[in-house]
Amino acid sequence: MTALPASSILVVEDEPAQMELLVYNLKAEGFRLFQARDGDEALLLADEEQPDLIILDWMLPQVSGIEVCRQLRQKSQTRHIPIIMLTARSEEADRIRGLDTGADDYVSKPYSVNELVARVRALLRRTRPGSDGEMLTYAGISLDTSQHKVSRDGATLKLGPTEFRLLTTFIQRPGRVWSREQLLDRVWGRDKDVDLRTVDVHVGRLRKALSKDGEPDVIRTVRGAGYSLDTEN
Ligand code: CA
Repeated sequence: MTALPASSILVVEDEPAQMELLVYNLKAEGFRLFQARDGDEALLLADEEQPDLIILDWMLPQVSGIEVCRQLRQKSQTRHIPIIMLTARSEEADRIRGLDTGADDYVSKPYSVNELVARVRALLRRTRPGSDGEMLTYAGISLDTSQHKVSRDGATLKLGPTEFRLLTTFIQRPGRVWSREQLLDRVWGRDKDVDLRTVDVHVGRLRKALSKDGEPDVIRTVRGAGYSLDTEN
């Protein structure tokens, strides 16, 4: 069985030792990591890489974690990304919770890494359907992540492992436009030496597998931008 694309996490932390600890432990748990050392870098990376979750330190140089959180929530591209805020003390956690910053969860320092990982998993389960063996559906298409089965209007479809991973990515956020680079990163993995044309080839195969006579094409090609699972052609 092909695993789902690994969830990606953006860690925003200015203290190198803290960053190292988090990255080491989260990588060991199988997550893909992006790292930002200040608020500006965090905003840029969140927009470009579209991580599945952000761990955000409150105390950052220049732009504070709270301000980063607010800005992430204001932009349509990053509004949906779940955020866990790290705070120095539990009283601070209580205080910023009252500020309604838009964070989804709060963990106070010093934290146990195991607890943080548990919170990350819990938040991903809530916000990333399908990572826990659920049924994902869109426009008559059903994808069962635990059984590794896909059907359209009740008819079982045969998909290759790459097409299955592509569809899993698409169906988690219907309507969202994915660039070829983003698809390459999620479906093949950042370190793989794969040509961008390969993405086109596999999207083409997926499109063909999903197509039904008389039904509109569900994969939209957005010229100069990428692809999206979308019936609004
Ligand atoms: Ca800090």
